[in-house]
Amino acid sequence: MRNAVQEKIGEMKDWLIETRRAIHMNPELGFEEVETSKLVAGYLEKFGLQVKTGMARTGVIGLLKGKKPGKTVAIRADMDALPLEEANQVPYRSRVKGKMHACGHDAHVAILLGVARLFSSMPDQVQGNIKWVFQPAEEGGGGGRLLTEEGVLENPKVDAIFGAHLFPDLTIGKVGIHEKEGLAATDRFVIKMIGSGAHGAYPHLSRDPIAAVGHLITQIHTIVSRNISPLDSAVITIGRVSGGTAFNIIPDEAEVLGTVRSLNQKVREELKSRMEQVTQGVAKSFDLDYGFDFQYGYPALINDPEMSRLVAAACGKGIGRENVEFIRPSMGGEDFAYYLEKVPGSFFRLGCRSEAKGIVNPFHSSRFDIDEDVLPFGVEVFARIIDEYLGLKLF
Ligand SMILES: [Zn+2]
Ligand SMILES: [Zn+2]
Repeated sequence: MRNAVQEKIGEMKDWLIETRRAIHMNPELGFEEVETSKLVAGYLEKFGLQVKTGMARTGVIGLLKGKKPGKTVAIRADMDALPLEEANQVPYRSRVKGKMHACGHDAHVAILLGVARLFSSMPDQVQGNIKWVFQPAEEGGGGGRLLTEEGVLENPKVDAIFGAHLFPDLTIGKVGIHEKEGLAATDRFVIKMIGSGAHGAYPHLSRDPIAAVGHLITQIHTIVSRNISPLDSAVITIGRVSGGTAFNIIPDEAEVLGTVRSLNQKVREELKSRMEQVTQGVAKSFDLDYGFDFQYGYPALINDPEMSRLVAAACGKGIGRENVEFIRPSMGGEDFAYYLEKVPGSFFRLGCRSEAKGIVNPFHSSRFDIDEDVLPFGVEVFARIIDEYLGLKLF
C-alpha cells in the first residue's frame, strides 16, 4: 500500500526525469555551474524556500523552516560534470562538446530538487529545518571544502548531514551504506630525481636520474606491502613517469607522479613519511638531489555509525531490509568528507544499474548512464531519512 507521500513522489516522476535530462544536456564543469545553479535556484524559489546563491561561487543553498522548532538536517548534491565526450546516442545526450555528466551528479541534483518539491508541499508537517546544499566542483575542485569554510553548516546550525552518490555496481532499488569508513583520502605526489646529464655513451660523467627512478618505482611499491599493516587499506599508484629527450642523452632530471589513498590519518601519515624516506634513500644511493612534493587532497570520508544505522533503519522500513546493504569502503574519494569532519552524518549509495536495460557502464565512462527509476527512488530514500531524523512520522 502506497501512502500519500509515496503517491506525491510517484506523481513527480516525469518532472524528475525531465529535470535530470535538462541538466544532463547542459553539463558544466566545476565552478562553472552557472546555468545549473540558475535552474536550481529557480525551482527552490518557486517552491517557496529561502534561497541563498553565490556561496563557493556557484553553490545554491535552500532552507525550509518547519512550523514547529526542532533539529536542522542538511542534504547535499554535487552539480559538476566531467571533461569527457558522451558516447551514448540518446535523445538527452550532452549538447556540449567535450563535457558530460558521467558521474551522475545530474541525477543527484534532480533528486534533491524532488525532495524540495515534496517537503515544500507540506510545510505544516515539518518540525525543525531542512537545508539543501547544492555544491559546485566535487570532481577535484573541493567545492565542499569551500562551502564548509564559508559557513554552510551555520545559520541555522546543521545537526546532521546526509548525501548520496549513485552507484553503478548496485542494482536499481538497492541502497548501499558504509557504516563508518566510506571513501579514501586522495593525496598526490610529485617526486623529482635531480642529477646531471651527459652523453649516453659516457654514463660515468653523469649522475643518472633515470636509473634512480627505476629503483624508486620498485621501492615505492614495497611500502604498502611491507610497512602498512595487512589489516589496513592503502594504495600508492604511480600514474606518470617522465624524463629525458633522446636515446643518447642522460637527462638532468626525471619525475614521477602518482596518487596515494588511505582510510585513516595514521596510515595517511605513515605513507607520506615512508615515501619521503624511500625517495631520500634512493637519491642518496645514486648521489642525486631530490624533490618531494606531497599534496593533501580530500580527507577520508568517515560516516557517523549512528547516522548510518539511522539511514539503514529509515530505508529498511519502506524499501525492504533485503534492499539495504552495508557495503565495504571504496578507495575512491569524495569531498562530502569535509562536511563529515564538522557534523555527524552519513554518505550512502543508490543503485542505478539495470542489466535488463543495458545500463551497466562504470562512472567516468563515456557510456555511463543511469536507470532513471533511481530518481523517484532517491527522493523517497531522502524523504525517509529526513522523516526519521526529524521524527515527522510521514510514512
Ligand atoms: Zn566522479
Ligand atoms: Zn561523483
